[in-house]
Amino acid sequence: MARLNDNYLKLQAGYLFPEISRRVTAFADAHPNDKVIRLGIGDVTKPLVPAVLKAFHDGVDDLAKGASFHGYGPEQGYSWLSQTIIDKAYKPLGVELEASEVFISDGSKCDSANILDIFDLSCKVAIGDPVYPVYNDTNVMVGRTGKADEKGYYEGIVYMPCTEENGFAPAFPSEKVDIIYLCFPNNPTGTVATKEVLKSWVDYALDNDAVILFDAAYEAFITEPGIPHSIYEIDGAKKCAIEFRSFSKTAGFTGVRCGLTVVPHDLMASTADGEKVSLNQLWNRRQCTKFNGVSYPVQKAAAAVYSDEGWAQVQEIIAYYMENARIIREGLQEAGITCYGGVNAPYIWLKTPEGMTSWDFFDKLLNECFVVGTPGSGFGPSGEGYFRLSAFGERENVEEAVKRIRQKWGK
Ligand SMILES: *Cc1c(COP(=O)(O)O)cnc(C)c1O
Repeated sequence: MARLNDNYLKLQAGYLFPEISRRVTAFADAHPNDKVIRLGIGDVTKPLVPAVLKAFHDGVDDLAKGASFHGYGPEQGYSWLSQTIIDKAYKPLGVELEASEVFISDGSKCDSANILDIFDLSCKVAIGDPVYPVYNDTNVMVGRTGKADEKGYYEGIVYMPCTEENGFAPAFPSEKVDIIYLCFPNNPTGTVATKEVLKSWVDYALDNDAVILFDAAYEAFITEPGIPHSIYEIDGAKKCAIEFRSFSKTAGFTGVRCGLTVVPHDLMASTADGEKVSLNQLWNRRQCTKFNGVSYPVQKAAAAVYSDEGWAQVQEIIAYYMENARIIREGLQEAGITCYGGVNAPYIWLKTPEGMTSWDFFDKLLNECFVVGTPGSGFGPSGEGYFRLSAFGERENVEEAVKRIRQKWGK
């Protein structure tokens, strides 16, 4: 009989979102006349903008004619898309990149998981807590960890707790590590890193020969000036960081699928013999072997995000979500609930009232306000006692949810 990958069995059962879904379905079945408002899963709600949709359609029409048909494209993505991203998303930040440093993909969940292919299992990994669960679980799957302890921490991973005390900014790892995951603006806490903080991480990584895996999926939601949108805004980052970006939240591509990963030529890692090799070369090899590129119409649609028209339309939607975030944040604060985030990220990270556990608050919010959010403990042990509300939603629903929460908490 074929032996399975035992590492998968180390994963803790009951992934967060299926459990939420189970409880919401049970509630909805029992209360068919009550309108449940879902501010739980981090998925966008607005449709694609017109400029993007037109380019998407044009891309499909191109495939209908022999003269403009496209079959397999470059595994790294079309250079017209990589160059557009460099010109429109990176140059304005003062970041110079070559097209061969940008790899177009079908999303940054996959990339942030697949990147583990190019690192040895002996690499020590540091992960935030709470965290986007993909970083943790993919390390378990490849076999970099032992079992989880009763709190949910896996043996072999170095966790960096993000708490109210440290402003949800991870401290440097407690021991020497080779790979450090950072996500700013952060999912789930909604916090950002200032230039000074990010510089301290780059310096730390350079001093300790570590690689930073920087997830910038929410950079488009930064509203405050001076907050870095890319880790490459920091000197030296090209020698120590890989950056992931996504069209998912920026432009409503969660169902369309397009993202990108930047692996700079200057970023090196060492062989068993201590020889230095460019990680760009390895990632390129990995993609060429295991990936056949993003579909042509999707790349056309992605390029249109950066057209003058497309960008203005996309910005309008981001502003709409961020207004939702403001309504949630201020409404909860007026109800006396302590909350974080929601200024440079579409997530509000609130402290559960009266010291409730995350799941107790989930049940109370669902049963008494008919509002669905995400229990903070689902993102890691340090998320216990916290709760995430998403700003992705329709305005009237967001206003209604805030009204119900304020009524419930008496203010
Ligand atoms: C949504 C999200 C992504 C984007 O994933 P895609 O695969 O590009 O849709 C990446 N990182 C974080 C932290 C996210 O929340």
